[in-house]
Parts: sequence; structure tokens; C-alpha cells
Amino acid sequence: MRNKVLITPKSFGAYKDIAYPLIREKGYDIIENTLGRTMTEDEIIGCASSDVVGIIVGIDPLSARVLEGCRQLRAVSKYGMGLDNIDLDKARELKIKVDRAIGTNNVSVAELAIGLMLSLARSIPYVSHRVREGAWDRVMGCELFNKKLGLVGCGLIGREVCKRALGLGMEILIYDPYIGDDDIFNNSNIKKCDNIDLLCRESDFISLHAPLTEETRRIINKDTLELMKPTAILINTSRGELVDEDALYQALTENNIRGAAQDVFSREPPGEDEKLLKLDNFILTSHIGAYTKEAVEKMVAVSTKNLLRMLEDWESTQ
Ligand code: NAD
Repeated sequence: MRNKVLITPKSFGAYKDIAYPLIREKGYDIIENTLGRTMTEDEIIGCASSDVVGIIVGIDPLSARVLEGCRQLRAVSKYGMGLDNIDLDKARELKIKVDRAIGTNNVSVAELAIGLMLSLARSIPYVSHRVREGAWDRVMGCELFNKKLGLVGCGLIGREVCKRALGLGMEILIYDPYIGDDDIFNNSNIKKCDNIDLLCRESDFISLHAPLTEETRRIINKDTLELMKPTAILINTSRGELVDEDALYQALTENNIRGAAQDVFSREPPGEDEKLLKLDNFILTSHIGAYTKEAVEKMVAVSTKNLLRMLEDWESTQ
């Protein structure tokens, strides 16, 4: 019996004609996620417990229980960048290799972040909605030009946002404790912040580009929101859990900040009664950051290549 590879991301199917032959050529059969949604832990274990050696995974949960339950699993290839849905300690313990699709979706996510900044600065979704209702009223906006953009996390996506924001005439503040004396700071319009409080106090726009870790969980909370300017705009295209959503609701309803836009949420999709979705100064998109033709094409190619390389490495040691 041939070993199998499980592929969970829904959008992978768009380019399967390129990826599937490569996987089959290497001797693996393919199991697809045909549910049209993210798989649950039990669903993954249900189809991958016995002969799946590799998984190309989206945001589906690869918890310790799942990794233990997939008894032949040797390699996990993330179809994207955030590894927060994979229990990396357990993977290490079980000697399951893990890699991610570096450099595939940074431009797409950065463009969305800039788009969300402009959407809120000019209230585009709200005004468009009002026009459809028959109104022709106006909301005074603000320019991005000459404003300060605070980036929390400045890796591949943060750097693409930075380039575009400089082009719009913004000044950049960066809080990222893991980049040292980086060349990026040679530009006089880019300054380093040693702590997030300073970034929150000084920025007109704040955009989150750090991974979800124990350090970054709820890094935007009641305290950090209170430091922000009443005109501040918060953008989160990283992970929902970086923001304390109750504290954000309070800040938005009490006008402690001007607006917030997220591409991610603590619970995706959010519940029907989600209170943030009732606010005109809150925008939520459905985790579309990496969902462009260009990024999907690259994520399929790189995640497939990564998986086959990791499986080949493993086989060579057998
Ligand atoms: P990256 O690894 O290139 O960069 C992450 C940066 O965050 C690094 O520079 C790191 O030093 C920094 N960082 C780590 N801990 C930090 C902390 N405590 N405070 C501040 N900075 C910290 O990753 P990337 O490609 O830029 O992606 C960033 C995140 O964006 C991913 O982890 C993922 O969660 C999210 N993402 C979302 C989408 C989407 O569809 N919305 C798509 C891709 C990635």
C-alpha cells in the first residue's frame, strides 16, 4: 500500500493540476479535504491515523493530540506562514519535520493591510453602505500622508507594509524585539521602538504583523488601547488572538480610538451575534490576506516542494 499525503487548504485545489502529479510521481497517494471548510481535530485523525506520512496544512488544528493520533506522520508543510495551529513542541518530540511557505504571501497581506488603513481613514465601507441605503452624507476622513504608522512585528509582511507606507509619505515606528541593528533603520523615516507602549502612544495607525505566541497573545489589550490616540486606527491581519476583542469593543464604543480593521478573528467565522460586527468603525474581512491568485500559486508550489523535500530527507535516513 502506498503512503499518503493529506492536503487540507481549500484554495490548494485551484492549482492541483501542477502539484498533484509531483506528489504522485514521488509515490504518494493524496487525500483531499473536501469539506469546504477547516477540518476539526477528529476529522484529521479520522483520515490520517494510519498511513498519512505528510500533511500540507492550512489553519486546521495540528494539536498534540492530532500529531500523536497520526501515527505515521513524518512531515508537516504549512501552506502559509503562521505556525500557531501546530504544536511545535510535540512535533519536535515526535521527530515530525515542520516547514512553512516563506516569501509567498507577504506582498498580498501587506497590500490588504494598506487597503484596510485607507478603508478606515476614509470610512469607505460605511459610506458605500450609506449610499446604497439612499443617503448622500459625508464622513470627514484623514490622510495617511505625514502620519505615523506603528508596526508590531517587522518580518516579511511588516517590511512590505513599510515600503508601501513610505511611498505614501508616512513615518514608520517599529516594535520588534527580535530584530537588532537592522539595515531597515538606516532610513531616517523609520524608527525603532524599544517597547510597545511608546509605539501605541505615538502612532496614528498601528498594524500588527507578529506571529501568535504566548508573548503576543492579547498584546493589544485594555492597557495598550488606553495609550492610543483617540484618532488611532488599528489594523490586524496577523491573528485574532493578538487583540483582546472585549477591550477593543470598549475602546471603539467609547471612542478611545477611531477605528479598527481585522482580517482575522479569535473565532473564524465569528458568531452571529458578534458585537464588534455591529459597529460602523469596525471592519472584518474573512481571512483573505493571502487569498490572491499570485499568493495562492506560490503557496501551492512552495508548500508542495517543502513537503516533498522533508519526506525525501526522512526516507534517506530510513
Ligand atoms: P515573519 O516570521 O516573517 O515575521 C514575524 C515578525 O514578528 C518577526 O520579525 C519577529 O521577530 C516578529 N515578532 C515575534 N515576536 C514578536 C513580539 N513579541 N513582538 C513584536 N514582534 C515580534 O512572518 P510574516 O510573514 O511577516 O507573518 C506574520 C504573521 O502574519 C504570521 O505569523 C501570521 O500569523 C500572519 N499571516 C496572516 C495572513 C492572513 O491571511 N491574514 C497571511 C500570512 C501571515
